[in-house]
Amino acid sequence: MSKRVLFAGLFHETHTFLEGTTGLRDFSLTHGEELLRCTGDSSPLGGALASAQEFGWEVVPAVDFRASPSAMVEDEVVETFWRELAARVEPSLDAVYLVLHGAMVSQSLPDVEGEMLTRLRRLLGPAVPIFGVFDLHANFTPRMADLANCLVAYRENPHTDARQAAQLAAGLLQRTLTTGQVPRMFWHHPPVMWPPTGTGTASEPMLSLEHLARQLEASSPDLWSVSVAAGFSFADTPDTGVSFAIATVGAESAARAVLDRLGSLALEMKTVGYTPDPAVGEVFAQLDPLPPGLTVLVEPSDNIGGGAPGDGTGLLRALVERRIPKAAIAINDPHAVRHLSSLHKGATITLPIGGRGSRLDAGPLELEVEWLRIGDGKFELEDKQSHLASMAGDFFAMGPCAVVRHGGLTILLTSHKTPPFDLGQWRSQGIEPTQLSVIAVKAAVAHRRAYDSIAARMFWVDTPGPCTSNLRTLPYQKIQRPIFPLDP
Ligand SMILES: [Zn+2]
Repeated sequence: MSKRVLFAGLFHETHTFLEGTTGLRDFSLTHGEELLRCTGDSSPLGGALASAQEFGWEVVPAVDFRASPSAMVEDEVVETFWRELAARVEPSLDAVYLVLHGAMVSQSLPDVEGEMLTRLRRLLGPAVPIFGVFDLHANFTPRMADLANCLVAYRENPHTDARQAAQLAAGLLQRTLTTGQVPRMFWHHPPVMWPPTGTGTASEPMLSLEHLARQLEASSPDLWSVSVAAGFSFADTPDTGVSFAIATVGAESAARAVLDRLGSLALEMKTVGYTPDPAVGEVFAQLDPLPPGLTVLVEPSDNIGGGAPGDGTGLLRALVERRIPKAAIAINDPHAVRHLSSLHKGATITLPIGGRGSRLDAGPLELEVEWLRIGDGKFELEDKQSHLASMAGDFFAMGPCAVVRHGGLTILLTSHKTPPFDLGQWRSQGIEPTQLSVIAVKAAVAHRRAYDSIAARMFWVDTPGPCTSNLRTLPYQKIQRPIFPLDP
């Protein structure tokens, strides 16, 4: 008889230092049978549903809520999600499969995923296995470990393997459904956190941690999965930071020994993951004269993938002041796009640009611009395995867009924040990134999959903004102390 598996997804990385809240209006909501339409697409849910088909499971589709990283989530989102999920829980279920981020915070709940698992367990009872996949930037919590049987993290940042990790977790669930062996989870959180710039898996410390995790995973058949969660340092919660989560059918003592090894390595390498970025002046000094080839300037303080508004003017101001030729930057500014759409193409006007999304920014920058192009901003991802695909699937909608020019600087104005993880963002708007001398991107690490192959060099720049790599400047209140780098 085919196994009945409940599917649900809850995906949000919550930046608790941002102004405002994230409500239902900001989420893409998929209900019931609609979930099945994702089967086979590039998202983790699409991958898990494809595995379900392959294993012949009978899928009970519940609900999927996804939003880009942003401010504190309103309680209504969590309660609406829960009502829809609970409505599909029934006694005949053989298992539950969850697609999570793992760093969601609501007005009332510092550990949304832990709370959802608590309520789910109450309805399901202790015997129904709960499996799933989660983002490498999760702030994993004790409740997640206690209540789930096997949650598997992505192993790559940029998240090129999100779908693959989801399928790995589905394969492990199939193992439970066919063998009757049920793993449980153990978790460890050393007192360390790193900014997103310190969490790329091509660099240390994540390179060594992932390497050790894979070695340990291969060392015993009892260990079904060893996950490294780099954490999301812009969510101020008691469990924020680096952690390790394993799913095992072996003894607790063996699990603890594995966690200790990973925890010790994280402590040894704690300073490697914390490198605040150099100031604008320092970086631009290296660009005078402008060297040949494409220079990518990375502005982590306005990292869209981390929840920042994507309209920061720090790097924009620097490009304008220094009159950098053949440069481009994307700024999320729906006001400016709306204003331009009432004008004639080719018109030259003075426009306030960006600077509205964060009180840390200097405010809108008034620029005289020539208006070149307007469009609907929808594009098909060039790279279906990108970090963006892990969030959005095959297509992305930047909202109505306008391209304007100020001197040598081309500005792509979007209406929806667009993480710079796919070059289709530029090409769909008639801009060829390889023809430019400088591109500014609002990211930390995940842009690298798109830009590494076209960039001659890449510099990270410190500007004012909520996703600064300088964690010591943020007003933490709830995080467990002591923790590196806040405490010596
Ligand atoms: Zn992530």
